[in-house]
Parts: sequence; C-alpha cells; structure tokens
Amino acid sequence: MAALHHVCTAPIARAALRVRATAISSPPVHLPKSDPRVLLGLSEQDLRQLAVDSGQKSYRGKQIHDLIYKTKSKEIQQFKHLPLAFRDALVRGGWSVGRSPVYRSVTAADGTIKILLKLEDNRLIETVGIPAEDDKGSVRLTACVSSQVGCPLRCSFCATGKGGFSRNLKPHEIVEQVLAIEELFKHRVSNVVFMGMGEPMLNLKSVLEAHRCLNKEVGIGQRMMTISTVGVPNTIKMLASHKLQSTLAVRQIPFRIYFCSKQQECSFEYHPISLLFLEY
Ligand code: SF4
Repeated sequence: MAALHHVCTAPIARAALRVRATAISSPPVHLPKSDPRVLLGLSEQDLRQLAVDSGQKSYRGKQIHDLIYKTKSKEIQQFKHLPLAFRDALVRGGWSVGRSPVYRSVTAADGTIKILLKLEDNRLIETVGIPAEDDKGSVRLTACVSSQVGCPLRCSFCATGKGGFSRNLKPHEIVEQVLAIEELFKHRVSNVVFMGMGEPMLNLKSVLEAHRCLNKEVGIGQRMMTISTVGVPNTIKMLASHKLQSTLAVRQIPFRIYFCSKQQECSFEYHPISLLFLEY
C-alpha cells in the first residue's frame, strides 16, 4: 500500500497549469475497450449490443448491466433472469463476469477493512474500504484502489515498492475492487481514491477506463474521485486533456533530497521523478 505523507490537491483540468510547458508529442489517449470477453467494464450500450449480437432482445443487455453492477453477480450462471440458453451461449463463447475472489480481509479497530483480491493469474492486489461518519450521522465509504500489481517506482519506505512490479491492472480489475468493498460493507461506495498499490499515471489508460465505468455504470460522481500521483513526466497534461471533474492529488513523500542552489534541505519534498516537471 502506498504510504501517504502529504498531498497537494487540484482539480485535474487545472493541474496541468502547474506543469512546466513540455511539448507533448504523444497522441490523445485512446481508451481501451474492456478486456475481451469480460462483462465488467462494459457500458449498458455495449451489453445491449452483445445481447442483440447473441440473438436476444436488447433489454437482456440492460438486465446484464443490473446483474453485474447492482446485484453484483459474479458468475454468468447466477444470471437467473436470463434464459438458460443465453447464459450457456455466453459461457460457451468464453465470456465471464470478471470478478476475483477475496483471498483475505482484515478489519481494523476503526472499521477500515483491507481486502486482498486474488486475480486470474493468482497475483494478489490490495484494496481498502474506509468508512467515516459525517456530522449528520450519514456514512461516507471511501474505496482506496490499486492500479498496478506492485509498483515500478520502488520508493524505499514503501512495502509495495519493495515488492517490485508485476503488471498493470486491467480496467475491470480496478472496478471490481470498488464492487468488492460495496459487497463487504453492504453499503454504496461514495468516494474513490486511486491511491493503493501502484502509480496510476503509469497505467493511465486503464485508470481512465475504470474512472469512466465507475462514474457512468456504477454511479459514483466524478467529483467524488481522486487520482493520486507522485508526478510522472508528461502524464498530467494528458490527464488534464480529458477534462475530468475529479481531483488530482500530488503526493509529497519523504525523500531526502536537496534541490536548492545552497544545498539547503527543503521542508517539503517530492518524489524525484516529479522534480523535473513541477514548478515551485
Ligand atoms: S509510488 Fe509506488 S513505490 Fe512509491 S509510495 Fe506509491 S506505490 Fe509505493
């Protein structure tokens, strides 16, 4: 789990203004479609099209949408509203819901629950549900989600970094973390922070697709989502071009570095990778 020591936050569309003017030669991000043959991550329109392509009425796609995002069914054979022949055809066609089993969960004294999900390739990822009560007594549930298995940035104090990097998460593997938390808490997730294992800006395509899905399909407001980064070169402008209404949090973490001309140690510090690109 990424350790958070201090965070500067900014709306994503404005954050790029603080980035030094650097020519971005990369083309606009083309969002990846969800994993082939994985239902989780698909829009209602995609699912309606899948139903029609399978010789079914379009409304069957809407039923699948409700089953995976609201009922949170994990297996196609649990889709009891669907005709058996359609379910069998989906399974025979290699389709799956795309949910992973909970390998372990640990509850802290303050009610925070840490969950380990076991992915299809047996790798484990961590996600955390953090409940909080406001003044009026209503519960806010925040999901802190991972974006990579491990992390290539290897911050010395971070257990995730020490464990090395395995791979990027696919969009549905990010979305399913939120569904797992909702299921465990039996409560809607109100806020999402991309602040778990990994650096979200190094897996931006999947993060953007998961962000879209969580907003449009799961129903979490864009303003309720925060993408946390240590500041990866050339990615903040790219993210800003998507004009999301979410917050970008730039992590300040305890690296002992010197960047003043007088070799004076500064009182706040950024990850070295971000120093080249952030203005002070
Ligand atoms: S950037 Fe990676 S290694 Fe550094 S604190 Fe975050 S998860 Fe850990």
